[in-house]
Amino acid sequence: PEPPQPMAWLGSAPNPQAMAGRHASHKGSFGDVAVVGGEGLAQRGLSMTGAAWLAALAALHGGAGRVMLALLDTSPPQGTAPWPEIMLRQPQSQDWKQATVVCGCGGGLAVRKWLPAILEQAPRLVLDADGLNAVAADASLQQLLARRASRRLGTVLTPHPLEAARLLQTGTPQVQASRIQAAARLAEQLQCTVVLKGSGSVIACPASFALDARACWVNPTGNARLATGGTGDVLAGLLGATWARMAAQGAASPAQPSLRLGTQAALEAVYRHGQAADLWPPSLPFSAGALARHFGACRAA
Ligand code: AMP
Ligand code: MG
Repeated sequence: PEPPQPMAWLGSAPNPQAMAGRHASHKGSFGDVAVVGGEGLAQRGLSMTGAAWLAALAALHGGAGRVMLALLDTSPPQGTAPWPEIMLRQPQSQDWKQATVVCGCGGGLAVRKWLPAILEQAPRLVLDADGLNAVAADASLQQLLARRASRRLGTVLTPHPLEAARLLQTGTPQVQASRIQAAARLAEQLQCTVVLKGSGSVIACPASFALDARACWVNPTGNARLATGGTGDVLAGLLGATWARMAAQGAASPAQPSLRLGTQAALEAVYRHGQAADLWPPSLPFSAGALARHFGACRAA
């Protein structure tokens, strides 16, 4: 048979309609995620960089266009970065100014130095783990956090029950006894979207930016497979990627302002995170790293 004519697949004239669609997409169309975390305590032989790597890996596979990772571990890097797609940066590079920021995973006490600037400047912020512990311990950070909403800067907090208890100055049993109320109270108090993690994660947002008059949801997916180290870091990275994509693709509008977009991204990411664990093939070993890499399979061309 005759070879096909080049024009058959090149097309004869640029079609503006098609150009506006997926063919015109580039890495900027999917949004940037900057992860800040991963303290190293070289003098004690400890490193918490794994948590930050997991968040960055989940952001990469979760569909972010570009992922920057600012490690707080200051000991010199050894060997090559395990994932060359992830750009290693210094926190001083201030990538948080233009990206969707995921802050706190394995952040230790070192994250406190950067939090005031991040709370002031990040356009969209997912705050997890030691980022939340820092806020719980410092009233001035709580004020900076609560001020973000009035400046139209979106924030999603992802506490597990103990982190939520610290923020609410109560105990874990009290949080667990009334999870919906705890999440809603935290959302109103700090003017943030809140994901209270655990079996049946609760997503709550302040009444002032509720979606369709709803300000609280209980996620139906997920199971005890997720009760293993690092899955929370994976959720934070996936949430960052989801939000970055929504923002880059112009999902924010007068009808859907950026504060609501954070809630939308949280609902989608929490659902997908749990669903991946529900659909996990029993023959495949489950780990947070395997979960993070799983999301790559879900990105459509
Ligand atoms: P972290 O506590 O930060 O490591 O986060 C753990 C992640 O696993 C969160 O997304 C939790 O919602 C999820 N998870 C932990 N245990 C369970 C469980 N028994 N059922 C459903 N999800 C869980
Ligand atoms: Mg965690």
